Amino acid sequence: MTRVFNFSAGPAALPEAVLRQAADEMLDWHGSGMSVMEMSHRGKEFISIHAEAESLLRKLLAVPANYKVLFMQGGAIGENAIVPLNLLRGKTKADYVDTGEWSKKSIKEAQRYCSVNVAASGKDSGYTRIPARAGWQLDPDAAYVHICSNETIGGVQYHWTPEVGAVPLVADMSSDILSRPLDVSKFGLIYGGAQKNVGPSGVTIVIVRDDLIGHASPACPSAFDYKLVADNDSMYNTPPTYAIYIAGLVLKWIEAQGGLPALEAHNRQKAALLYDYLDRTSFYKCPVAREDRSLMNVPFRLPDEKLDAAFLEGAQQRGMVQLKGHRSVGGMRASIYNAMPIDGVRALVAYMKEFEARHG
Ligand SMILES: *Cc1c(COP(=O)(O)O)cnc(C)c1O
Repeated sequence: MTRVFNFSAGPAALPEAVLRQAADEMLDWHGSGMSVMEMSHRGKEFISIHAEAESLLRKLLAVPANYKVLFMQGGAIGENAIVPLNLLRGKTKADYVDTGEWSKKSIKEAQRYCSVNVAASGKDSGYTRIPARAGWQLDPDAAYVHICSNETIGGVQYHWTPEVGAVPLVADMSSDILSRPLDVSKFGLIYGGAQKNVGPSGVTIVIVRDDLIGHASPACPSAFDYKLVADNDSMYNTPPTYAIYIAGLVLKWIEAQGGLPALEAHNRQKAALLYDYLDRTSFYKCPVAREDRSLMNVPFRLPDEKLDAAFLEGAQQRGMVQLKGHRSVGGMRASIYNAMPIDGVRALVAYMKEFEARHG
């Protein structure tokens, strides 16, 4: 068996130890005689798996007691609608900060439910920076302020938490949740699909402050009403049981790595290897402003698009896959989430140097 270094933006690489444990437990979870996939979500076995995943998530992120942790379905794209359906609370407006492809998707979806004020946009910079807080035009009557903490496609990331006063701050953290410590109390709501940093696709993590629950619009599907989901411990309908189980194993793995401070240090080290090299060479170019560069998704371009196919092929031959940038921006993108070992980044930088020497 040969495992590749998988630089996919998502679904993304999982820790090998987690996959091995899941394989070991596939046919018989802890003497139950069943696979987790075959268990009733109401049985004591799965209830314990679910409770452990939730309590680990709470512990790792130090989630305050007045927040609910929900495991939902529908992905972050689903939440783009579920958030306004729950959080408008009779208001008609919401603020959105536009930092790239994923913010644009959130904005477009929210416009079906409310009037969106684009409080700031990275458009003028070609989405290569996060707009400085000083320039944001927030609406005091907005129901909430929405940001995307890490733009998975463009590779820009917030390295600060915006102060937005009394209006709840909402963040799509799909691609950087659990990659670094977080002050949850600064947010009204955080959501993210699991498939970048936390587990397989199918489960969406929602962390929501109690006072924002219980105000869903009558048009909100029951399965997406935060109150019904919270009151039923995320089991109002059948939850994505296997995805929650794997996410729980990943959370245990994160704890074993030393928790989020240790992971952040490791993630910074990995990103620095790549960015330091990108800054030293004139062959490759990273378009993103230094202070806003993502620690998770590193976009870069070759001097000529005609070299892209050869670069990707050479990478594949060396066991490095999924480096092609998103079709909307082109170029290359290395996604180096929690589960990417530093050896994978070292191998990539070594290959980039080799390719530069040959084609530069
Ligand atoms: C991947 C991603 C999404 C899409 O999530 P789905 O699970 O496909 O709905 C949304 N936002 C961000 C920031 C992402 O990285």
